[in-house]
Amino acid sequence: MKKNLTDKDLKKQKLAILGSTGSIGTQTLEIVRQHPDKFEIIALTAHSNWELLAEQVKEFKPDYVLISNQDYYSKLKKAVSGTKIMTGSEHLPALVSLPEVDTVLNSLVGFAGFESTLEAIRSGKKVALANKESLVVGGELIMEELKNSEAELIPVDSEHSAMLQCLVGENMSDIEKIIITASGGPFRELTKEQMQQVTIEQALDHPNWSMGAKITIDSSTMMNKGLEIIEAHWLFDLPVEKIEPVIHPQSIIHSMITFIDGSSKAQLGLPDMKVPIIYALSYPERLSLDTPRMNWNEAQNLTFEPVDFDKFPCVRLAMDSITKGGYAPAVLNAANEVAVERFLNKEIGYIHIPEIVKESLANIESNDSLNTETLKEIDKETRSYAHTIIK
Ligand code: NAD
Ligand code: MG
Repeated sequence: MKKNLTDKDLKKQKLAILGSTGSIGTQTLEIVRQHPDKFEIIALTAHSNWELLAEQVKEFKPDYVLISNQDYYSKLKKAVSGTKIMTGSEHLPALVSLPEVDTVLNSLVGFAGFESTLEAIRSGKKVALANKESLVVGGELIMEELKNSEAELIPVDSEHSAMLQCLVGENMSDIEKIIITASGGPFRELTKEQMQQVTIEQALDHPNWSMGAKITIDSSTMMNKGLEIIEAHWLFDLPVEKIEPVIHPQSIIHSMITFIDGSSKAQLGLPDMKVPIIYALSYPERLSLDTPRMNWNEAQNLTFEPVDFDKFPCVRLAMDSITKGGYAPAVLNAANEVAVERFLNKEIGYIHIPEIVKESLANIESNDSLNTETLKEIDKETRSYAHTIIK
């Protein structure tokens, strides 16, 4: 049956994509390419990859483009025309609150994405959130702001998209627990002793997903799962005890919900971030996506095993940080960002990543009331501290 077209069908969704040159950003633009009648690009941003950003500007003709690293401003300025060019991360919040923007897709990495998420919510936008660190560091502030605004917060992370898809038509009070699946990363089968020798190349070689460097290292230490448990805690308002991580090496089941009657729902598909990205953009409806499908006629096994918390201490550190509350998750996040950066710079060994996080959590505390300014201070203080830990 042909349905009558509504205004919403006719109107294009106007997007600001933060981090458009990254893994999530470029996949979002592939979706926009597939649906030129559904989306219009208002703003694109990147940190330093001005060449790719310039190509994107030529193709998608945004009204605004921002390069946060000022060193590349003049190069970008020479390469593009017909768009307002900005530089400096401090202008990101202004960009997301532009009245012509409907949806902000935040695919920045780390704490750098927090203020943009908060500002987008304050200005009533729909926020498609890939930047999980926003919720890790300031979940309480973001969820409080969300209650008082017209904004919507839709996860892009595949696990949380799976949870959202399983929850359509359900009552939140009927959730018994969330089963958050994890591939286990490249070191699932190594012993603790073998993990002492891990190299950067091995840690960057994820078995199922191709992603930016920071999240790839986080997946190998399983800090990514810890961050995602915190993300689920805020998004679905559940205590960490009701969010259970389970290893599922094939990454076909993206997460499950068990309800109070013992029934479980799961969302399945190939590991392909375009699926959760398009769902976040089209939610609560669906849009077609030209991407490979699962072949269910092909024999395969879906397997599950428990998380080894001893081998992957980051998961427990993250879960404990949310139980502790206050600034602990922000300290965990900042220390982890520094530890990952130091590992990638060959300054520390792989096994020192959880040690730096643990030591920072033990040494940095604050009783100040939580707000954006104090969060920034704690982030800064933790970064300085985590840089000085000698390993
Ligand atoms: P990426 O490193 O590939 O891209 C990051 C983007 O942000 C780039 O465009 C970069 O220019 C920009 N950027 C980086 N640092 C910045 C800074 N300090 N200021 C301003 N811009 C900055 O990262 P990604 O893999 O696309 O991940 C983005 C976010 O999405 C992360 O929070 C990650 O955890 C989350 N995520 C990614 C995936 C994935 O498959 N890649 C899956 C789930 C969640
Ligand atoms: Mg994920």
